[in-house]
Amino acid sequence: MSSRVLVTGGAGFLGSHLCEALIARGDRVVCADNLSTGRRVNVEHLLGARGFELLVTDVSQEIPVQGALDGVIHMASPASPPDYLRMPLETLAVGSSGTLNAAALAHRHGARFVLASTSEVYGDPIVHPQPESYWGNVNPIGPRSVYDESKRFAEALSMAWHRTHHLDVGIARIFNTYGPRMRKGDGRVVSNFVVQALSGEPLSVYGDGSQTRSLCYVDDMVRGLLMLLDASLLGPFNLGNPEEVTVIELARRVQAATGAVADIRFEPLPEDDPTRRCPDISSARSQLGFDPQVSIDEGLSRTIAYFASELGVEEAASNGGTGL
Ligand code: UDP
Repeated sequence: MSSRVLVTGGAGFLGSHLCEALIARGDRVVCADNLSTGRRVNVEHLLGARGFELLVTDVSQEIPVQGALDGVIHMASPASPPDYLRMPLETLAVGSSGTLNAAALAHRHGARFVLASTSEVYGDPIVHPQPESYWGNVNPIGPRSVYDESKRFAEALSMAWHRTHHLDVGIARIFNTYGPRMRKGDGRVVSNFVVQALSGEPLSVYGDGSQTRSLCYVDDMVRGLLMLLDASLLGPFNLGNPEEVTVIELARRVQAATGAVADIRFEPLPEDDPTRRCPDISSARSQLGFDPQVSIDEGLSRTIAYFASELGVEEAASNGGTGL
């Protein structure tokens, strides 16, 4: 039987892929988004689809959904560092009031509640790779705390709803995810490098580029989130691809994949930038059956094809040209 699922932040990069996957499998979707970092264009192709509704609303204020719900997936939040640094109070509001509103709505409907948490709950981790049992190393007053602490609070709130009201909660700690529909100016490493390489600009490596990230292609992440929605497991579960790369290595791979002539430009490392990040996904593997399939090279090539078409440039890698 088809379910009706609310996706807050459903017009964002990851949220829109999730809405698409839910519709594709026959579920009905209410996509709630205030379009602050999400974009209508991300879900425009779904507007005519049966069972899809777009609700432009700020979920920190209210979520005026009519009708029954079987699931609520709370994705709404700025997620890119430049975005949450630009909108610190909104980020704290959506992690606190937004999570409260979304959880209360799920409770009223007897719906499952999936929280999109983050690897940032581990801060600049001392334990590596990070298992869910690690409590993290977060600077509570640093610039990134608006995101880290808001998601930590959202986890605490979800757990309190679960313990107090038996809300059917599932917590996903989402590690760096990339792919088509990232905003070209959103400031994250993959979108920045790919757009720079395709535009013939030097790739902006922050610090010396020795910091690591583990990058998950969006389709794999969506599969993981659906597995968690469909399970009745609490978690938290790390979701991500444990293939770890240094930022400088990533820059070299983007250069190679685009055939970029542009060089690398070193820029200052942002404050509190985590030194290393890699998910231990053994819990998600054994309990959800989560197993990322898309390698970084394959994912990068799909992402490059997307940005090349967005920017209207020819793909160098496919024709041996320069990408300019
Ligand atoms: N980064 C970089 N150049 C950029 C953007 C990001 O070197 O143009 C680095 C950033 O300092 C961090 C990593 O890439 O170490 C990932 O940054 P991103 O903003 O994508 O996500 P984060 O994991 O920091 O939330």
